[in-house]
Amino acid sequence: MKLFTVGPVDMYEETLAIGGEPIPYFRTSEFSEVMLKIEKDFLKLLYAGEGSRLITFTASGTAAMESVFLNVIDRKDKLLIVNGGSFGHRFCMLADLYKVPYDSIDLEYGDVLTEEHLYKYDGKGYTALLVNIHETSIGQLYDYKMLGDFCKKNNMYYIVDAISSFLADELRMDEGGIDIVITSSQKAMSLPPGLSFVALSKRILEERVQSSGVRSMYFDYKDYLLNMERGQTPFTPAVGIILQLAQRMDTLAKAGVEAEITKHRELAEQFRAMCKDAGIPVPTFPKSNALTTIEFPDGNALDVFAKLKDEYGLMLTPSGGDIGKRVLRVGHLGVRCIEDYVEVIDRIKEVR
Ligand SMILES: *Cc1c(COP(=O)(O)O)cnc(C)c1O
Repeated sequence: MKLFTVGPVDMYEETLAIGGEPIPYFRTSEFSEVMLKIEKDFLKLLYAGEGSRLITFTASGTAAMESVFLNVIDRKDKLLIVNGGSFGHRFCMLADLYKVPYDSIDLEYGDVLTEEHLYKYDGKGYTALLVNIHETSIGQLYDYKMLGDFCKKNNMYYIVDAISSFLADELRMDEGGIDIVITSSQKAMSLPPGLSFVALSKRILEERVQSSGVRSMYFDYKDYLLNMERGQTPFTPAVGIILQLAQRMDTLAKAGVEAEITKHRELAEQFRAMCKDAGIPVPTFPKSNALTTIEFPDGNALDVFAKLKDEYGLMLTPSGGDIGKRVLRVGHLGVRCIEDYVEVIDRIKEVR
């Protein structure tokens, strides 16, 4: 089975090989070294800047999203949330759950987020913006610099869920003025699910994290930061995935984040050109390099999905909700190469 999903994705040989090895004990100086190097490489790939720190949770990405509400945001805040699909909706659900006042910029499938959407929220006392910079459920990539400018102008914290965008699209914390980036292991990092990460800017550390009155044992940033001073986590981490991560980070840090982004961009662009030739509609909104949404105006998307999966071993990504019958998503993450996309196009032409 070939995965054209956004996570988990097909992993590299080196990653799989490490997954077959015994798990070492981790309260050692050797493991601490591994953790410290990961933090350094990770923050560099994000251009997180001087004084930034990384928190590593053994938990899925949603836990890292929720941790922001436990450690950084409180009921005195007034949030602005970009709600352009199911992941934007998840931030709204968290704000509801933690009773934090918010307004959401609600986008329908096909709406492009522009500066005009932001005007009416200017100067209204919002304290933080939350956005899934690539709304994975739709495939739209928002302009992180445009949103960063808005936050700067309004003196807001800028909190970015980049779980499906990190390593696929450009995202620089320094240039965007981003305070928090959330990501996780199973998307473009091409690792097993199980780890999620919170990168914190110097500003948010000083202004919010250090003085937070967090009521959570497992998700207390301060505890993680203190432990990471010696390269450790407060609780047992997913040691095996961390060793796989160390190998990936090392490769990525050597090659540079731009090379990784370029690889994804080229696959995405070539696939989109093939779609055009094959008469498969692709939405016009700005797209992440992580995936391409393809449209089935006849409403047979789920049929195509099932046939490709069951008859040809090609696992595309179906969508939930109202658009489920009309779109499929084709991921460009993991070990995929251009020949894989030729195959997908041929099979779609056959079964559609
Ligand atoms: C995958 C993803 C998540 C995390 O989902 P989990 O199932 O909790 O790992 C969060 N946000 C976005 C934008 C995602 O693509």
